[in-house]
Amino acid sequence: CGIVGYVGPQPALEVVVDGLARLEYRGYDSAGVAVLDNGTLRTEKRAGKLANLRQALEDHPIGGEGAGIGHTRWATHGAPNDVNAHPHVDNDRRVAVVHNGIIENFSALRSELEEQGCKFLSETDTEIASHLLNKVLEERGDGDLAGAMRQACKRLEGAFTLVAVSVDDPELVVAARRNSPLVVGRGQGENFLASDVAAFIAHTRDAVELGQDQVVELRADSVTVTDYDGNPAEVNEYHVDWDA
Ligand code: GLU
Repeated sequence: CGIVGYVGPQPALEVVVDGLARLEYRGYDSAGVAVLDNGTLRTEKRAGKLANLRQALEDHPIGGEGAGIGHTRWATHGAPNDVNAHPHVDNDRRVAVVHNGIIENFSALRSELEEQGCKFLSETDTEIASHLLNKVLEERGDGDLAGAMRQACKRLEGAFTLVAVSVDDPELVVAARRNSPLVVGRGQGENFLASDVAAFIAHTRDAVELGQDQVVELRADSVTVTDYDGNPAEVNEYHVDWDA
């Protein structure tokens, strides 16, 4: 339902949870976050209101020096509970993924990944994306999350905004878009992304709207957008001049 990503000098977790709060008006049934902390992937997620997630983060702090992503879920596949809440991670805890929309061919991909030894924890369509990205990263051997995302997206059918972070590159957020909204917020020495500009206009009003079938590589000092083949893509840059 709602997505937020951040890379920059501010504490990622705070920026991300604050962004999720600004998307609360859209409605949701669960919420979760993933951050990179000292080279490891830390996640927390809870069914129910953002207050439940905030309480869990207070009870078990997860740090967060690197990139961060967050999600509010409106369940389509799997009940609204803690396990099905996003982010989803692969069995090596290398990649964390949040997702808006529906991956139509998840069932075939799930069987394929299970045959290769992946253990699924949730009932979501989303979880295949974390296992698939980990498999692709293993095959590539270069730790290139954006390259892996482009490769993985070619195998997915349906409507999605997919956002990922990985231990390979703690200062990077990668996102892909097909039939589901995704906007980047350009800051000074920091960058944001979200399903809706409302999540980041307290920080910046310089927005970049991604087009269909594009992948963005978000770093503190750069925003690189390509198509699924890795060619530079045309994007729509604009200034948000209304108040949220
Ligand atoms: N299909 C995914 C799920 O059920 C994502 C739903 C959403 O857009 O929040 O977990």
